[in-house]
Amino acid sequence: MINPISYWRLKDRYFNLLGTKCTKCGAEWFPPARVCRKCGCQDLVDHEMPHTGRLLAHTVLKEPSEEFRSSAPYVVGLIELDNGQRLLAQVVDVDPTGLQDDTRVRLTIRKLAEDTKRGTIFYGYKFTPLP
Ligand SMILES: [Zn+2]
Repeated sequence: MINPISYWRLKDRYFNLLGTKCTKCGAEWFPPARVCRKCGCQDLVDHEMPHTGRLLAHTVLKEPSEEFRSSAPYVVGLIELDNGQRLLAQVVDVDPTGLQDDTRVRLTIRKLAEDTKRGTIFYGYKFTPLP
């Protein structure tokens, strides 16, 4: 279950793909890093990631956990953003049987999950194929 306090604290990451950028070498990191893994610099600033990339690999989830069950079946993909950073995200607006790896994708903000007991809906990043 998504913790509402953590969700609120990380809302910029969920809504804007907010990562970090090294002020010394320019390397970009998502999820945000506190230390640059390229040069060891500890001076990193918030930096919005590119909203486009490509699908490296994907799978179809048919039996997800309780909070995601209403969305099943759905596609989870390994996305490589245009700056080379990789992340896992749901791929929406696709026919799971016809989806090809290497498809160009772009960011979209959609419902992630719903806590029906508290009446809370969580939104965040997903990806959809580029036309
Ligand atoms: Zn660096």
